[in-house]
Amino acid sequence: MSSESTQVCCAMSVMDSPVGSDFKRRIEEISGESVLKCYQCGECTAGCPVAFAMDIAPNQILRMAQLGLENEALSSSAIWLCAGCETCATRCPKGAALSKVMDACRQIAIERGIKPREPNVLKFHDEFLKGVKRFGRCHELSLTACYKMRTRDFFSDVLAGIQMFLKGKLAILPSIIKGRKEVRELFPARESGKGAKKRHRRG
Ligand code: SF4
Ligand code: SF4
Repeated sequence: MSSESTQVCCAMSVMDSPVGSDFKRRIEEISGESVLKCYQCGECTAGCPVAFAMDIAPNQILRMAQLGLENEALSSSAIWLCAGCETCATRCPKGAALSKVMDACRQIAIERGIKPREPNVLKFHDEFLKGVKRFGRCHELSLTACYKMRTRDFFSDVLAGIQMFLKGKLAILPSIIKGRKEVRELFPARESGKGAKKRHRRG
């Protein structure tokens, strides 16, 4: 985390945050999670497998949500690097589902047209969701093919891809789940988020 952001977080308290800030309210609306549950013990960050690569630690993203520090949280690379593994939720003594907060932050960033620092992350995110909508779950091989087509980056990670294929980690055909229709029905809410983004841009 940048020292400037750390100083802002340390200098503010929840009591200083704008009462019922839009950012906090929108996160709670999307995630169904109360951000005020968190008391900053740091257990989530200690167990997060990708915290080492994040610019802002997972517990600090939650702190920013409490404080209404919208721009700082939404412009971080941390919200896009979160793998949604839910280790944080498992470790949290308050039962806070931080992974849902990260997911909500991504959705709000898309709605507000805030671009991730790593330009290809959004393309990956988009292709991943399209695959889940199509098959009901992720199919890594088609995800990789669609992502490569969109980024025109055909040769990076080729060796890793071959190794995964040889170890049977990349199935040729997708496995289509029984509840595909129910999974598809979850998507209109997200797609209305895209509408909100367009409205925001027009506004
Ligand atoms: S483990 Fe839970 S309470 Fe502790 S910092 Fe993380 S989200 Fe907050
Ligand atoms: S869900 Fe995200 S924030 Fe939580 S432990 Fe996994 S990668 Fe880290």
